[in-house]
Amino acid sequence: MNTRAAPRVSGRRARWARRSATVLVAMLVWMAGLQAVAPMAAQAAGVTQLKQKLAAIRAQVSAADRAYEDSVTQLENTQSRVARTRASIRTENAHLAAAQTRLAMRADAMYRAGGRNGILDFLLGSVTWQDFVTRVDLATVIASSDADLAADVINTRARLARNVRQLGVVASAQTRTTALMKARQRAMDSQLAARQAEYASALASLASAWVSGHPGGSYPPGPNGMVFPVQGVHSYSDTWGAPRSGGRHHMGTDIMSPRGTPCVATVAGTVRPHWNNLGGNSITLSGNDGWTFYYAHLSRYAVHVGQSVKAGQVIGYVGNTGDAAGGPTHLHLQMGPHGNWVDPYPYLRQMEQ
Ligand SMILES: [Zn+2]
Repeated sequence: MNTRAAPRVSGRRARWARRSATVLVAMLVWMAGLQAVAPMAAQAAGVTQLKQKLAAIRAQVSAADRAYEDSVTQLENTQSRVARTRASIRTENAHLAAAQTRLAMRADAMYRAGGRNGILDFLLGSVTWQDFVTRVDLATVIASSDADLAADVINTRARLARNVRQLGVVASAQTRTTALMKARQRAMDSQLAARQAEYASALASLASAWVSGHPGGSYPPGPNGMVFPVQGVHSYSDTWGAPRSGGRHHMGTDIMSPRGTPCVATVAGTVRPHWNNLGGNSITLSGNDGWTFYYAHLSRYAVHVGQSVKAGQVIGYVGNTGDAAGGPTHLHLQMGPHGNWVDPYPYLRQMEQ
């Protein structure tokens, strides 16, 4: 019974297994079909819709970026007020020390000249009327210059006290603004990180939809023929000329983006990676069209010195090297015809249209 029953059971099992395998294969074929349909659907969605989706994500992040940039400007202004107040205090301290020394010397000279009764003895020491008149004139001049000297000391002390109070006020404003900037930096970074995957997938669909119609291309350039330099979620605002540390002014656009996001050549040309203390890992791209592009704060390079690159080719990755260390990761971009820097902002906006 056992020997007869066993084949029946195993036969049923075999049929069940075959049916299961068929169902499984059918499911796999169906799922593979779905995956094949996905990029086609994305292509059907079209370049325009994908660009609109990317623009919508950027718009959602841009408020956080603007808030951050505002606090950076506010902090730079506060820091230069602190520096100016400190410089005034140094100047006034030096002035006060000199005036006090002169005053002490005058008091000493008067004491030596006149003894206990000072000016009176000096005047009574006259031997002729003419001598007396001369000594009165001299005493008047000495008295008024001493009064000026004393007034100078009093006024300088008052100015110094005002500036010391002022320094306390601006220094605490600086502490508050630094905390605000750090909080806004965290908010911006987390918003960028939250949309990173979604943005990357829409961007990949956009690139493949565009490349299928443009053999040899890598990424759609804007109407100005330039490819947007950061290929991933990003945000930027127009900070051309904004105050920067050491009395400098911002000569480019900061494109905020998570660390490691690929940076691409805006136009075809030759690249020169180089380190400098402000820009950190930097690349100068000399475009074949005569324009120069400067990429700064990269986490690493993807090219070597003298390499020819195509527009849209990856040349490095977003980071915060150089004076951006400790701040948000971003690409600092400068651009201009023959190295005459212009505000990149309107050009960048056009690249994304
Ligand atoms: Zn910058």
